[in-house]
Amino acid sequence: MSDRVFNFSAGPAVLPLEILEEAQSQFLNHDNTGANIMEQSHRGPVFDKIIKEAEADLRTLIGIPDDYAVLFASGGASFQFSAIPLNLCKDNKKVQYIQTGTWSKTAAAEAEQLGMDVDVIFKDTKRVPTAEEIKAKVDPEAAYLYYCDNETIQGVEFQEVPEAPIPVIADMSSNFLSRPIDIKKYGIVYACAQKNFGPAGLTVVVIRKDLIKEPIQTCPNLLRYSVLEANKSMKNTPPTYAIYIAGLVFKWIMSKGGLPGIAELNRKKAMMIYDTIAQSNGFWNVPAEESCRSMMNIPFANIFGEERQKEFMAFAETRRCKTLGGHRSIPGSFRASIYNSMPIEGVEALVQAMKDYQTANQ
Ligand code: PLP
Repeated sequence: MSDRVFNFSAGPAVLPLEILEEAQSQFLNHDNTGANIMEQSHRGPVFDKIIKEAEADLRTLIGIPDDYAVLFASGGASFQFSAIPLNLCKDNKKVQYIQTGTWSKTAAAEAEQLGMDVDVIFKDTKRVPTAEEIKAKVDPEAAYLYYCDNETIQGVEFQEVPEAPIPVIADMSSNFLSRPIDIKKYGIVYACAQKNFGPAGLTVVVIRKDLIKEPIQTCPNLLRYSVLEANKSMKNTPPTYAIYIAGLVFKWIMSKGGLPGIAELNRKKAMMIYDTIAQSNGFWNVPAEESCRSMMNIPFANIFGEERQKEFMAFAETRRCKTLGGHRSIPGSFRASIYNSMPIEGVEALVQAMKDYQTANQ
């Protein structure tokens, strides 16, 4: 569809056109029920099939074994900043955090506000810690080690799972389902939907079942993993439409060769941008170190800085490339979020715009 733009927003983000079309075709009459799925009971047979299939497909995609639960939680990923300490720290308030950017910092601050004894074992926004740095600091007595697998704002992504003798917890909000993961290395992996798999309002939590235990007494019911698990994610009304779309996205990823297939595509797209920057003789630059550059969110800048930021964005818009402004905490910068659903044509349009802008302005 020619009037669709290439949306480089960090989230809510682009969805595959095929999925929007499928949802549109079902909009007034889902599966011959005479109603939209969002108008139907979450306890009825139509939605029951959708949520069960979504869970089964997610298990197949990632390879989630039976000793892990899949929870469809209401609300954004930020709720997990509280849910994690509240659920895991009843008897032990010592927790460890790796800080590689805004989101892991925010999660650590939330744990602290809830009264945890927060130990930040690494702080840098341009690189991730080495295995040795983690090993030297990790405390076998802590309740968990928390990190953000892909810092959406700083564009820093882990290439290896941090090794620790305590449960490892990963916020994968901005790189969930973008590449294969070995779920058995994690205690908890969670991600909000609005970047890589659907509309905002849904967060998927994959949790090793032995970590579902008695939370701190004041933990609200809807943040209790035990309550979500016992009620099959339906203690209250779940975000049914978001779960329906997520289910379609899971099937779409399967059709692209599953996580290995999608990872290959993602790498190709990201390298087109990184290579353009590398070949620009310093006209464009990236803050993150090469070894941990994100395949999903690419913050970058050019030699002009804040003064002419809007100029490049207006130029890129003439090529249908939208929402390229960097996060407000990095004035004058740009950011290209290229989640699973960003078509390669979008990345081609962006790199051509970057090259043409450089030619016209140097
Ligand atoms: N974690 C990461 C890595 C994010 O990128 C975001 C949002 O951009 C969040 C957490 C917070 O998500 P939400 O807005 O759904 O609470």
